[in-house]
Amino acid sequence: MATDTAAPPTGQPDVDVRALTELLDGEYAEVRDLVRRNLAAYASVLADAEELDLPAFRDRVRDLVVEMAATGQTGMGFPEEYGGGGDIGASIAAFETLAYGDLSVLVKVGVQFGLFGGAILQLGTKRHHDAYLEDLVAGRLMGCFAMTETGHGSNVQALGTVATYDPATREFVISTRGDAARKDYIGNAAEHGELAVVFAQLEVGGTSEGVHAFVVPIRIDGEVAPGVRIEDDGRKMGLNGVDNGRIWFDDVRVPREALLNRFADVSPEGVYSSEIDNPHRRFFTMLGTLVQGRVCVGGAGINAAKVALTIATRYAVRRRQFEATSDTEEELLLDYGLHQRRLLPLIARTYALHFAQDVVRTQLHEVFSGITDDEHNRRELEARAAGTKALGTWHATRTIQECREACGGAGYLAVNRFAALKADSDIFTTFEGDNHVLLQLVAKGLLTDYASEFEDLDQLGTVRFVTSLAVETVIERTSVHKLLERVRDLLPGGDQWDQEAGLLDSEYQLAMLRFREEHMLSGVARRLKRGMDQGMNPGEVFSRVQDHVVAAANAHVERVVLEAFVDRVRSLPDSDNRVALGLLCDLFALTTIEADRAWFMEHGRLTVVRSKAISREVGSLCRKLRPLAVDLVDAWGVPPEMLRSPDLLA
Ligand SMILES: Cc1cc2nc3c(=O)[nH]c(=O)nc-3n(C[C@H](O)[C@H](O)[C@H](O)COP(=O)(O)OP(=O)(O)OC[C@H]3O[C@@H](n4cnc5c(N)ncnc54)[C@H](O)[C@@H]3O)c2cc1C
Repeated sequence: MATDTAAPPTGQPDVDVRALTELLDGEYAEVRDLVRRNLAAYASVLADAEELDLPAFRDRVRDLVVEMAATGQTGMGFPEEYGGGGDIGASIAAFETLAYGDLSVLVKVGVQFGLFGGAILQLGTKRHHDAYLEDLVAGRLMGCFAMTETGHGSNVQALGTVATYDPATREFVISTRGDAARKDYIGNAAEHGELAVVFAQLEVGGTSEGVHAFVVPIRIDGEVAPGVRIEDDGRKMGLNGVDNGRIWFDDVRVPREALLNRFADVSPEGVYSSEIDNPHRRFFTMLGTLVQGRVCVGGAGINAAKVALTIATRYAVRRRQFEATSDTEEELLLDYGLHQRRLLPLIARTYALHFAQDVVRTQLHEVFSGITDDEHNRRELEARAAGTKALGTWHATRTIQECREACGGAGYLAVNRFAALKADSDIFTTFEGDNHVLLQLVAKGLLTDYASEFEDLDQLGTVRFVTSLAVETVIERTSVHKLLERVRDLLPGGDQWDQEAGLLDSEYQLAMLRFREEHMLSGVARRLKRGMDQGMNPGEVFSRVQDHVVAAANAHVERVVLEAFVDRVRSLPDSDNRVALGLLCDLFALTTIEADRAWFMEHGRLTVVRSKAISREVGSLCRKLRPLAVDLVDAWGVPPEMLRSPDLLA
């Protein structure tokens, strides 16, 4: 039952919060509860973030990460023989839940176990696993994932660090060639890391073989290793419990075995070999094994949004401002239509993204546990992970800001969480792949239909690939007309389906989002084709179409998110919780259409009358959901200790 005073109108669902939490936690309820308990036990770190100086806070975060490692919650994704839990899905669920707490702790865990540990596990072979996994899973060996350089972050194929094989000594020589090639923003580098997985251009016998990863000691007994230079990145906008730094390598020698050699190797005599001939494909195959980090950050963004919404919603059923419907009492914020309009669609979108994240987590688990591991599934997973990460983290940034404002001046006080939430989650939109770059990756998958050539194609290759197909093929592939035929069967009104169908019919909502996606994709394909036919440079053609490309990818991901939500609701037995989720699903669908109504009207799929009807329906759904709002946020199960906000929630 809602804890605030508003009585649900008759016919309204009565949310069973505990059952809803169980449904949301799903198969990983036990893991999530373990993390919730740990978060509550270490809740003081939220105050430490404000009170300790930089070095002390970094140490506090490091100690906490090591203590959490001892509970098993951070090592769930590693093989059991090395002290892990052998369950990839559980490791993602644990990470998502950790995002309810201090985000420096979360990111330090991500760097240590996800990035550093993940690279050793996925790119290394038994010799690396035996040498490092047990210690890193226990938190005894801290490490870095040193990919980004000052000169290159998104385009990591163009990294400037070089690893040259020296057959005389059977060593690789790691060299930073110029300041643009220094490693930058590297977590664990400034203070705590002993080893780094360093991404560098491999040169063997004068031939460049592309980017490969090497294990390089950067500190020995706490001192910076010979030939390594490290500079602290200093204070950041947030995440100040993580010690990010820059690293230079002045011809540092590491043994031949330091190459993480799952996908390629160099023989003692200096012969390079790989089962993957195409260097592009090899590189993207390597990167693809690291997709887990993206899935983690997307899920963390969604959960950070839940913290903000829990605080803002609970405040909105306590805080009164201005008399409105009564002469004796001021109105609760959440009884204002505007406040409902600000918070409830964000709650609905959070639910939608939650269910979409369930899908991508399950796919990841199945692909990486070998249950459904084929190339097409992997490519689809990569695109899906990229899309969910982009939308999930943008949603966090937007939601946290809206919730801060919804709490007025109180929202600005550090004790009320938003200061840290805003500062710490902001960078989620950039690391683990900049969101705009990721959406281009999503579009590439769609335009090429995850073709087997997918990994071989760089941006220009993609343009050439798409435009080499007859435009009819692409249109067939994106198949707006086929969609319309299907829709005519599903919805009343024949060609007028978009005017006749009920706004709350999920087939109508899905048809609208599918139409937008497929129309946009075929539009991109046509424009690419036209540009190439006119003899324009492929890069220029792509650049001109890029906003369209990103819009198409966004449309695709929103459609996929809605499908995940609709599927989940349909899978539930009849209950009040199902009704409540149905209302949220409708709200998500209609606010998504409403937000892009100009496009739908431009493309003849939304009349003025119907557009206004959608806005009315959104208002009505908000009013229906208003009495359920507190239950809906409580069902996320954010531990009370993580909310702080003593004066907002009391
Ligand atoms: C706190 C923090 C922690 C980090 N931790 C690590 C770590 O541990 N290890 C590690 O290796 N890296 C780490 N990073 C680096 C991070 O992954 C990169 O910053 C990120 O990948 C973006 O790269 P960049 O900064 O070079 O931005 P750029 O790639 O230069 O992007 C800048 C802007 O240009 C746009 N842009 C780029 N390419 C295109 C294009 N083709 N078309 C249109 N627009 C484009 C982007 O959308 C973006 O808005 C960290 C960064 C930070 C800030």
